Amino acid sequence: MESTIQKNSQYHLDLEAQYGAHDYHPLPVVLAKGDGVYLWDVEGKKYYDFLSAYSAVNQGHCHPKIIKTIQEQASTLTLTSRAFHNNRLGEYLKFTTEYFGFESLLPMNTGAEGVETAIKITRKWGHTIKGIPEGQAQIVVCDNNFHGRTTTIISFSSDAGSKNHFGPHTGGFIHIPYNDTEALEQVLQDNPNVAGFLVEPIQGEAGVYTPDDDFIAKARAVCTQYNVLLIADEIQTGIGRTGALLAVCGNCSCEAQCERQEATYIRPDLLILGKALSGGVYPVSAVLADRAIMDVIQPGQHGSTFGGNPMGSSVAKTALEVIRDEKLTQNARTLGDLFRAQMNVYIADSKIVNLVRGRGLLNAILINDTEDSKTAWNICLRLRDKGLLAKPTHGNIIRFAPPLVITEEQLLDCIQIITSTLKEFEPSGS
Ligand SMILES: *Cc1c(COP(=O)(O)O)cnc(C)c1O
Repeated sequence: MESTIQKNSQYHLDLEAQYGAHDYHPLPVVLAKGDGVYLWDVEGKKYYDFLSAYSAVNQGHCHPKIIKTIQEQASTLTLTSRAFHNNRLGEYLKFTTEYFGFESLLPMNTGAEGVETAIKITRKWGHTIKGIPEGQAQIVVCDNNFHGRTTTIISFSSDAGSKNHFGPHTGGFIHIPYNDTEALEQVLQDNPNVAGFLVEPIQGEAGVYTPDDDFIAKARAVCTQYNVLLIADEIQTGIGRTGALLAVCGNCSCEAQCERQEATYIRPDLLILGKALSGGVYPVSAVLADRAIMDVIQPGQHGSTFGGNPMGSSVAKTALEVIRDEKLTQNARTLGDLFRAQMNVYIADSKIVNLVRGRGLLNAILINDTEDSKTAWNICLRLRDKGLLAKPTHGNIIRFAPPLVITEEQLLDCIQIITSTLKEFEPSGS
């Protein structure tokens, strides 16, 4: 039987190279199994996962409760389409809107579809409620954003590789620098046709670029003043990752989710979720908004065959219960503080690392080398050899984002692996 034959990594690398599109440049490691914070490759070598599938696996690999849910649902009912109702969607909608404090939710599958959905809602709201002349609605976006890979979304990317030769590009987007609310205010003053401001509370793909603490609060105030929808893309930052249920919570939390009560919660008008919404088990994304905004979408105007299916609905509800019941948000906050504190001790005497930044368990270190250097990549190869998987983003930045189920003991072990690896790359004599 084929499944019992141990096939080595090279076999799988060769198959992918020969038969797959070459749209990714993965670290050479072939994974075969996951459990909690751990992954195993086809040779049986064990690793700490320090990427969590770009923060999709916040609840840890193969979380038993989430797997039980998907197994039960998979053998009961998988897909009805929205031509009919199913007995899982309604309960998921009620649970999730209450969890995040919104009146309604539109279910989709991938993150990019969630962003597309938010763009459509915003434009329609702009034209039909705000009174922007038909076809004139603009959306403000930030430089160095990452919101996905569809034709519309790459139209407002700053990344040449994502964008070049994929035109003609979709219009209707205005760029401002990230973390610059003065630029936002200027644009809104000059453009009465702006319907929304689409923003990541922390720019994950850009290298965990963490803005000023009051950036989102100020953006919220400016948007409110100019009657512009604040659209938070929390696909990577949301669901406990940054030590708050949502990164827009900043130094606060809603309800008892992460125990902070400073009442500085910033509420976006549209909230986009994906990735960890299903614990990385099944593609589930969502846009949440109150009725006054969501109800611009009427039957036949938006949808997806798989959106809101019984598997995704069941899995997402369980995945959110796990975040709440296991207090993963609180764990991300405590261990994130510990991680940055320990890394800063190392960095104080380091020539190879310039700084660590991030919030909760979404962090990155800046390698002291040029963006086109191989240093960060080589460090990640060495980390792999020593049993920890991470990947560079933007050349000289390494993102560290373990599953939120990681324990303090495991994290200290990982810090040891990371710092001992970095030591090997310090210039000699230091
Ligand atoms: C991953 C990501 C997306 C796109 O999600 P996909 O599921 O890959 O389409 C959008 N926005 C942000 C901030 C992301 O991190």
